[in-house]
Amino acid sequence: MEMGTISAAYIASAVLFILSLSGLSNQETSRRGNWYGIIGMAIAVVATILNKNVDAYGWLIFAMVVGGAIGARVAVRVEMTQMPELVAILHSFVGMAAVLVGFASFFDPTLDLYGVEATIHNVEVYLGVLIGAVTFTGSVVAFGKLSGRVGSKPLLLPMRHQLNLGLLVLSILLGWWFLNAGHDGGTLPLILMTLLAFAFGVHMVMAIGGADMPVVISMLNSYSGWAAAATGFMLSNDLLIVTGALVGSSGAILSYIMCRAMNRNFVSVIMGGFGTTTGGGEEEGEQGEAIAIQADEVAALMSDASEVVIVPGYGMAVANAQHAVSDLTKQLRDKGVNVRFAIHPVAGRMPGHMNVLLAEANVPYDIVLEMDEINDELNEVDVVVVIGANDIVNPAALENPNSPIAGMPVLEVWNAKTVIVSKRSMATGYAGVENPLFFKDNTRMLFGDAKDSVDAIRSAV
Ligand code: NDP
Repeated sequence: MEMGTISAAYIASAVLFILSLSGLSNQETSRRGNWYGIIGMAIAVVATILNKNVDAYGWLIFAMVVGGAIGARVAVRVEMTQMPELVAILHSFVGMAAVLVGFASFFDPTLDLYGVEATIHNVEVYLGVLIGAVTFTGSVVAFGKLSGRVGSKPLLLPMRHQLNLGLLVLSILLGWWFLNAGHDGGTLPLILMTLLAFAFGVHMVMAIGGADMPVVISMLNSYSGWAAAATGFMLSNDLLIVTGALVGSSGAILSYIMCRAMNRNFVSVIMGGFGTTTGGGEEEGEQGEAIAIQADEVAALMSDASEVVIVPGYGMAVANAQHAVSDLTKQLRDKGVNVRFAIHPVAGRMPGHMNVLLAEANVPYDIVLEMDEINDELNEVDVVVVIGANDIVNPAALENPNSPIAGMPVLEVWNAKTVIVSKRSMATGYAGVENPLFFKDNTRMLFGDAKDSVDAIRSAV
């Protein structure tokens, strides 16, 4: 394929990616946005394969068949609740790809660059490998934390801020050595920096407490974009640069939104352990007794109410209860009850997790409200039903300055007349923090799997 045609194909792909992002920003257009992305990526892959510089078709087909088969198998088998950890591990692949391309590009014997050109190329290699290595190990640890293989408690090494600063200074010094060492002498500083960046990625994510993980996920998303952009510079591939920049900047914006939603300072989160430095993690002692309720009593309360708000959380995803919840909503609305949903920005295990589940279950978009839209109205609500949520409705975030989640805005469900909490036990949520909501006078606990509980309420309604 001629270079002109390839450039045109790349421009078309870039435009489709931008349309895809704008489509994905709204639930009603998100399906279309997804299609724009798929078509854009298909055009990009075909154009890249048909580039006249590409000749190792045997290897290419082998890699695409093996990679495609693994990807298809994973996509079919993955549960909705495992999506966040899948996304995290996919970010790690982007990071590793940037590291490998960086080394390959550095050792490429066909590259004959001198003077400023060689320096620019070396800077690209150095930055690409640095960002890629941090993204790789950071994402692997994030995968471990999200899948429960690594504990969610932050690992707080003594003098960790000095350690991070030391690693940063060392990376800069190694970069200076790398750029001045020439081609042959540059291997050692490049390898040393890669090892340091691997260690930094592990330390950065290990130091982050459970409730701050959403920021890390979106931040690693952003890093993976910048790693891809750096790879694009090394390979002189304009589309990869544009795509990487799109992912990098949208991830950065998402991180900012997440930080604002959680009342966290971005720099504090990425420097690690913010959740615990807030107040040493001391929690309040004995809380009293929780009062249980049965499904038929909940059904009566909901049917008699005029205003009902449902707060979904991670447990709804685990129980796969969204369809039952959607059916219950329809039943109650048919009876004249005003049912609305309240979505916390970090509910579930990935940004937009609850919106995706409710959309999948055909819950009308106009009754799904963001936390800021509904928090002030909760005192006028008759019944709030919390389905498999915990941290996002924890009053300790506002009431207990010593709580590890102190300062995080939460859905103030306890202001409603009655609160029903559907979960299996008194266990804590992802942040591992006790929840005083369960012991409030107007709270009733509906124990059991969320799907079973909602089905039982539906039958009784
Ligand atoms: P939580 O993790 O706080 O709580 C979920 C609750 O669901 C648990 O307490 C659990 O209690 C209950 N549960 C689990 N399975 C079931 C089931 N089958 N049926 C009924 N209940 C069930 O979830 P939230 O959504 O409230 O909060 C999200 C947390 O995850 C926050 O701390 C957030 O920071 C963090 N996080 C969010 C990310 C994001 O991007 N959204 C990413 C990473 C972390 P029990 O075991 O008793 O049933």
